[in-house]
Amino acid sequence: MSLTLPELVAGLDRLLEPKAFKDYCPNGLQVEGKSTVKRIATAVTASQNIVDQAIAKDVDVLLVHHGYFWKNEPTEITGMKYRRLAALIKNDISLIAYHLPLDAHSKLGNNVELAKKLDWSISHGLDEGDPRSIGLVGGPKTDRTVKDVVSRIKEVLQREPLVIGDLSSPVTKIAWCTGAAQGFIEQAATAGCDLYVSGEISENTVHAARELGITYIAAGHHATERYGVLALGEWLQSEYGLEHIALDENNPV
Ligand SMILES: [Zn+2]
Repeated sequence: MSLTLPELVAGLDRLLEPKAFKDYCPNGLQVEGKSTVKRIATAVTASQNIVDQAIAKDVDVLLVHHGYFWKNEPTEITGMKYRRLAALIKNDISLIAYHLPLDAHSKLGNNVELAKKLDWSISHGLDEGDPRSIGLVGGPKTDRTVKDVVSRIKEVLQREPLVIGDLSSPVTKIAWCTGAAQGFIEQAATAGCDLYVSGEISENTVHAARELGITYIAAGHHATERYGVLALGEWLQSEYGLEHIALDENNPV
């Protein structure tokens, strides 16, 4: 099956509703390539490594969570930015990126997919007043302690998470937000959670966890954000009959 590039982008926009979000980058089509799409690749980030893998697989579209053109980045197309863009353009590959709309989506977003992978139930958004809350609150379906949750994260995400807290503490209420969302730790503590899980960690988050009395797990920015774009690629395969190739690379952060 094939469809036109505008049809593909329109289908993704209908699903992910990017106009409902205030974001730090353009969502949707970022680089225009071939007008007909048969084969797509998905990945977390459009790094040079992933662009090269996409070229080797001869795809028409590269669909990612972290694309280009972030707010406040230099606008000149030089160096690393030139090499990535030139590789896409010379090979006629479109780049499509969805950032916050993919974190927040209620069926195949990063946060919903992470809960499925880690066997957590979802009660409500971390920002309860916002129907598009990116962070979520819920609880473990089978795990009982921080140690149980940590071993599952290790097994499923294939990463050693960094834990601030006591492994023997019981866990009944978890808040989580994939990627670089450690800043929501206070909100998670205020919501009465025993545990907050995100991707990254800074020095001050250690103190925040200790002083707020909440366990914090940094499970990896890349590792926690693998599953939304993967689910989106699978959705495109079943919805439009496109060939989908999932690309990955090692990123310890
Ligand atoms: Zn991210």
